Order: sequence, then C-alpha cells, then structure tokens
Amino acid sequence: MHAKRLRRYGDASVVKKLSSRHHGVTLSDRLWARVVRGAPDACWEWQGATDKDGYGRIGRGGRGAPNNPAHRVAFEISRGPIPYGLLVCHHCDNPPCCNPAHLFLGTHQDNQADKVAKGRQARGSTAGRCS
Ligand SMILES: [Zn+2]
Repeated sequence: MHAKRLRRYGDASVVKKLSSRHHGVTLSDRLWARVVRGAPDACWEWQGATDKDGYGRIGRGGRGAPNNPAHRVAFEISRGPIPYGLLVCHHCDNPPCCNPAHLFLGTHQDNQADKVAKGRQARGSTAGRCS
C-alpha cells in the first residue's frame, strides 16, 4: 500500500517534467527551422525577419533577450562561441546566408577593407558583409 503510493507519486512527477518539454525547443532548433538548407556549398538563406541590411534576426528566447543576427547564431552553433569583438563575415556576400561553410570570423578592419575593395569593383555593392 505504502510502496504503491510512493510509486504513483514518482510517476506523477515524471509526467509533469515531460509535459513541460515543449518549452525546451533549443536556439539551434529555432534557427534551422527558418533556414532552407540546400547543398553543402549552396547558400542556406534565412527565411524569417531580417534587418535593414538583409541579415536574419533571431530571438535568443527568454525574457528581454535581444535579437541576434541569424548568421552569427549559425556560426556559434556550428563552430563555437565568437570571440569578443569579432564579426562573422560571409564568403558569399549574401547577408541572409547561414551556411557555416560560408561564414568566417573577421575584424571591423577586415570589414572596412572589404567594403572599400568591393566599392571599387562593383559600384552599388559597398555594404560590408560582416555583422
Ligand atoms: Zn552563402
């Protein structure tokens, strides 16, 4: 009798834990749910909200959490934390692209140099591709 009651209590607590799991969607789940992943060398474009420069924006989740550029989140998920002060740049010059193979770390200096180089080659495409 006593043992039965204990077991029932145990079951109840397990059920409670499982039922709250729908809140446990990870940042990674939410990112890739909004990215069209194609061939390994293709651009994987973010389909959700973007900022004025065309970069994807994804909420970190949680109260008051800021939005983050989707490609930075993609980089972190795939390669690890971004060192403080560094930018995540696109080899492909495609702001919504979240293919980790197209992303690399750069500095603000790199970004400026990139802008200048691209400004000389193709007028109208002077935006830096790091954020
Ligand atoms: Zn790309």
